[in-house]
Amino acid sequence: MTDVTTPDFAQLGLAEPLLRALSEEGYTTPTPIQSQAIPLVLQGRDLLGIAQTGTGKTAAFALPLLHHLAARRAQAPRGGCRALILSPTRELASQIAENVRAYGRHLGLTSTVIFGGVGARPQVQALQRGVDVLVATPGRLLDHVQTGVARLQGVEILVLDEADQMLDRGFWPAIRKLTGMMSSKRQTLFFSATMPAEIAKIANELLKDPAKVSVAPVASTAERVDQRLIHIDASQKRVLLSELLRQPGIGRALVFARTKHGADRVAKHLVLDGINAHAIHGDRSQGQRERALAEFRNGRAPILVATDIASRGIDVDGVTHVFQFDLPDTPEAYVHRIGRTARAGASGEAIAFCAPDEVAKLKAVEKLIAMRIPAEDRRSPAAKAEAAAGLPKAKPQPPRGRGRPQNAGPGQQRQGRPQGPSRGPVPPRGDRRDRSWREADFRDSGR
Ligand code: AMP
Repeated sequence: MTDVTTPDFAQLGLAEPLLRALSEEGYTTPTPIQSQAIPLVLQGRDLLGIAQTGTGKTAAFALPLLHHLAARRAQAPRGGCRALILSPTRELASQIAENVRAYGRHLGLTSTVIFGGVGARPQVQALQRGVDVLVATPGRLLDHVQTGVARLQGVEILVLDEADQMLDRGFWPAIRKLTGMMSSKRQTLFFSATMPAEIAKIANELLKDPAKVSVAPVASTAERVDQRLIHIDASQKRVLLSELLRQPGIGRALVFARTKHGADRVAKHLVLDGINAHAIHGDRSQGQRERALAEFRNGRAPILVATDIASRGIDVDGVTHVFQFDLPDTPEAYVHRIGRTARAGASGEAIAFCAPDEVAKLKAVEKLIAMRIPAEDRRSPAAKAEAAAGLPKAKPQPPRGRGRPQNAGPGQQRQGRPQGPSRGPVPPRGDRRDRSWREADFRDSGR
């Protein structure tokens, strides 16, 4: 292993074993949320962070948290933990736990992750011994508290991640019960992508004189990602998607559909076209979701079709392409979607399809990101003529119509297959090192 430390992270005041792990991860420069948050958390301040996934926020709280635990060595309390990280989804909890292990691999601390939908016994055993860092979803952790297995009095540092998602999922009563059991002397770090009044109120209840940090107004994600838009008839989206996914250079691709059924349909059609894809959405069992994610990660099924909700918490490095089969209902979701590629240190491309009846959604997106997305037009001549005639929006749809069959004939729109003429250059980002921490020596919950 190299002994090269990263001066930027070193300047933030992090301990040497953390710097070494970061160097091994291939991180050279702190992201904005990291350079803002880390010194404040190291000072012991409570923190209110407004940051989306993709900004490096996990490291922003995990690094100083690990630093504190290592600096103030203590026995983890039996049945409890020294640091607790609450996350809204199992996928995100697993991802955070992996990051904690990666960053902490040279510290000799213990960690474990707890979420619902899987057997409780290993979790109980890990808790009974006590762990330094516990990552958990609120519901399952509360179960363990209520059965007397988990005790939270010893929590020194509490992190609430994606607070807005916690609220949406109805976790707030559980969180209130959990925090009610903790010592008020703890340090609390609170992260949310958005800060509506309800979240601000909760933050106010939980935090003491917090330092506030905020990064990445949504537009900046749009600037980072190489985007393309393809105007296309709804009936031709399927064919186009298969065609684009067969092109060279597609590594891992996330395909977004608006609904669960839509996601299933798209995945099914891809499989019929000989493309190995899975769908992931809220109706899938935990086992199905895990298998789909594992095969996405290991490249066996490198195409994942997801709904917006299911995609949260999927943090897989090296997503080369994000396709939006349907434009989302809210323009903010467009920005979240494209943020799944071009994560810190990687490059990526985002391609959105826009059917004639989605033009109003496209306008809203372009307004939000304050830019025109480079577009090519593969609509049928009839749809083009309609647009040229100045019809700004789609005609009213026939009841339950799914993609108007206005151009069922042989589509001229597929001739000439340009490669996306107006794509801007992708700024070089430097390769991220493949993570080798899965084999790392950071102990998982055992002692
Ligand atoms: P997050 O916002 O925490 O989900 O992080 C987004 C992605 O960026 C994850 O894949 C991290 O591993 C990666 N990452 C976080 N911080 C850095 C950094 N300073 N340099 C390079 N990659 C980073």
